[in-house]
Amino acid sequence: MEPTGPNERAAWIFDVQRFSVHDGPGIRTTVFLQGCPLRCAWCQNPESFTPGRQLMLFPEVCMECRACSSVCPLGGAGPPTEGDGRAGACTVCGACVEVCPMAARQMVGQKMSGQEIFELVMRDRPFYGQDGGVTFCGGEPLLQWRFIAPIADLMRRQGLHVTVDTCAAVPQQTVEAVPGRLDLVLADLKLIDSEKHLHWTGQDNTGILAAIRYWDREMPGRLWISVPIIPGVHDKEEIEKIGGFLATLKNEPVVRILPFERFGESKYGALGMSKPAIVGDVEPLVEGARTVFLQQGLNLMVY
Ligand code: SF4
Ligand code: SF4
Repeated sequence: MEPTGPNERAAWIFDVQRFSVHDGPGIRTTVFLQGCPLRCAWCQNPESFTPGRQLMLFPEVCMECRACSSVCPLGGAGPPTEGDGRAGACTVCGACVEVCPMAARQMVGQKMSGQEIFELVMRDRPFYGQDGGVTFCGGEPLLQWRFIAPIADLMRRQGLHVTVDTCAAVPQQTVEAVPGRLDLVLADLKLIDSEKHLHWTGQDNTGILAAIRYWDREMPGRLWISVPIIPGVHDKEEIEKIGGFLATLKNEPVVRILPFERFGESKYGALGMSKPAIVGDVEPLVEGARTVFLQQGLNLMVY
């Protein structure tokens, strides 16, 4: 069944970033949806894994005032410790977040309707110009295609450029629906070796490679590929394989290298999860990837 009007559904959103310049052409608003089928070992947005409200705890800024203890209906709140996570019985009511003077307790995840998203995005309409618009990101935004598609229709009718930033691990039906409803797809290509892909992300890449081939065929000039480069995960051989696959695509998609960054690591502790075990220097790998991709004749976007 085709998605209908933008009021029909709501989605769990964990962030909205205005004036983004790296999530597609021009100036954009990037809307981050929760829920993802992959569990990449290097993910910088662990709060996106599961849809719903989540309590994040930052012990490094706690002043031990115990205001949280006085309002928690379960009596479970108190000064957090490193890697604590929320107490098992916590109902994520948010009372402690409201009273914490240090933002040592923060809530992430809110349900928003399509209409709310539309109105939020349209507030910055004068800044988008000819190229800019909105990027749905995640998490995996295409998991909620029935939510996104009608908003995308509405935005495009207003002249906005609409794209998704996707891991491409989505149902075939969605893959095939995308070309007619979006202006551009930003698709990740993480690894070519299927065993390694399974090991590092939790899924093999058969469907992902097929989706990228499909979009290349059906969306000429409207596909960008993002290649994350991660120390300990990527090596020269794997980078050559990735470039080799991309060189076989008929319509020469734009290729972007995304170097691993550590800024998301503190969020793992704040959610009570183990930090990613990623060690090593990314810069030599990135330099190597640039050289290889240029030698392979890829349409490399250099920042
Ligand atoms: S979110 Fe609510 S239940 Fe959970 S620790 Fe805070 S006050 Fe207690
Ligand atoms: S209210 Fe905030 S600053 Fe005060 S003890 Fe609780 S977490 Fe720490």
